[in-house]
Amino acid sequence: MAITKKESQALAKQTFEYAPAPEAIDHVKIQPRYGLFIGGKFVTAHSKKRFPTINPATEQKLAEVVEADEVDVDRAVKAASKAFDSWARLSPSRRARYLFRISRLLQERSRELAVVETMDGGKPIKESRDVDIPLSAAHFFYYAGWADKLEWAFPNRKPRPLGVAGQVIPWNFPLLMLAWKIAPALAAGNTVVLKPAETTPLSAMVFAEICMQADLPPGVVNIVTGAGKTGSLVVTHPDVKKVAFTGSTEVGKLIQRAVAGTGKKLTLELGGKAANIVFEDAPLDQAVEGIVNGIYFNQGHVCCAGSRLLVQESIAEPLLEKLKRRLSTLRLGDPLDKNTDIGAINSRAQLEKIQELVESGIEEGAELYQPECVLPARGFWFPPSLFTNVAQSYRIAREEIFGPVLSVLTFRTPDEAVAKANNTPYGLSAGVWTDKGSRILWMAERMRAGVVWANTFNRFDPTSPFGGYKESGFGREGGVHGLLPYLELN
Ligand code: NDP
Repeated sequence: MAITKKESQALAKQTFEYAPAPEAIDHVKIQPRYGLFIGGKFVTAHSKKRFPTINPATEQKLAEVVEADEVDVDRAVKAASKAFDSWARLSPSRRARYLFRISRLLQERSRELAVVETMDGGKPIKESRDVDIPLSAAHFFYYAGWADKLEWAFPNRKPRPLGVAGQVIPWNFPLLMLAWKIAPALAAGNTVVLKPAETTPLSAMVFAEICMQADLPPGVVNIVTGAGKTGSLVVTHPDVKKVAFTGSTEVGKLIQRAVAGTGKKLTLELGGKAANIVFEDAPLDQAVEGIVNGIYFNQGHVCCAGSRLLVQESIAEPLLEKLKRRLSTLRLGDPLDKNTDIGAINSRAQLEKIQELVESGIEEGAELYQPECVLPARGFWFPPSLFTNVAQSYRIAREEIFGPVLSVLTFRTPDEAVAKANNTPYGLSAGVWTDKGSRILWMAERMRAGVVWANTFNRFDPTSPFGGYKESGFGREGGVHGLLPYLELN
């Protein structure tokens, strides 16, 4: 029997109560203090400065890490330089074996890693468990396969590793970004010095333990914790031959200036302001799921998040009604609970940035919608939000918010959709929702975005290249393309 519209609205409003389902944490051993991982072991740092890493959902301290200084970074780069000759000369199939071993160990320790990632970063356990950790293992597995096939990957060329790679990663996907950086570098025969983000160093510390478990030769991977200054020391060190950075466009520009003229190879994966475009012939319920996944996944801390929804005017009303209803069913709270959809904001600083941009949206005249939502008393939280009545000139339509905030704009024709989607200094990703294959191809040809998803969003695979245009950076990670920045082709 069909239900009336009123009944269906009442149903949608009904809150489905779930019993708490917290992931166990008793199997996880976080050390109170970590040293630096240099030359195959944890060493006492030269720097006496330490800082705490906290759980953003509770504001409780989890551990202390070192703020590595110039002497520490130099020591790490020296260890990587020393290891380079033998690692580069090692038979490629033996290099592959180490990468396979790391991949297996990531799988074996996946539960522990998921808990660490969630406690340190605030993301829901179902995301760290089902996305971050399996994809990290898959990256090592995939690049292990390339290690002894480099000459087939680049026929008639002589691929050679570059030397020491200096890698700086952000806090939104800590282990996954580590895997994106370290796996191709090692497969190509380079050694690395990596700096994790200040707010999320712990999964990198577990990864250091995994390198020891895998008997990786000393110095092949070195991990130095610290803040922006440490990152800058890594990328500017004269013996670093290749720099790979993921993070904000602002810091990306600083790094580009710092390495200009040094001969270092550089790849930058920076911010985004992606358009998720829904045409009137799209399956609306699926599109709603794609929109939710596009912007509320990982609290919107995603460089390729679908933060601008472009919806065809004729279906704007029903689509927004469905979307608002769906938002009211999202569960925000304890990231360790397996039913949680929206976890904690990664840091107080990021929360303040989101709040400031949301305020600007209201001041400029956009209309804010937030479902009823009780925020926990401690920790950093922001409810899933959407803005309507947004003009393209508003800051919320132009700037990367990096939070669970969607800006909704409308369009009438495909040309207008393309013009609006491309009206941004960024160019990392886009989504198209339509029933017509020909329209998908037509749109994909015209979008200035590194990846265009069709009738889906936020899909990642190690075999598929990822990277940006314009202020979203340059160079590709993933796939055979991801090897290229770590090789010299003679
Ligand atoms: P940053 O770009 O500052 O951080 C990324 C990484 O770079 C971190 O490891 C950081 O260290 C390091 N770093 C900072 N300054 C330097 C420097 N001068 N030289 C070398 N390394 C440096 O991002 P934030 O964490 O400050 O976030 C700010 C905004 O950036 C966010 O609100 C979001 O909009 C955007 N962002 C985009 C990301 C993306 O994937 N595109 C990822 C993260 C942020 P430390 O953590 O210690 O500061």
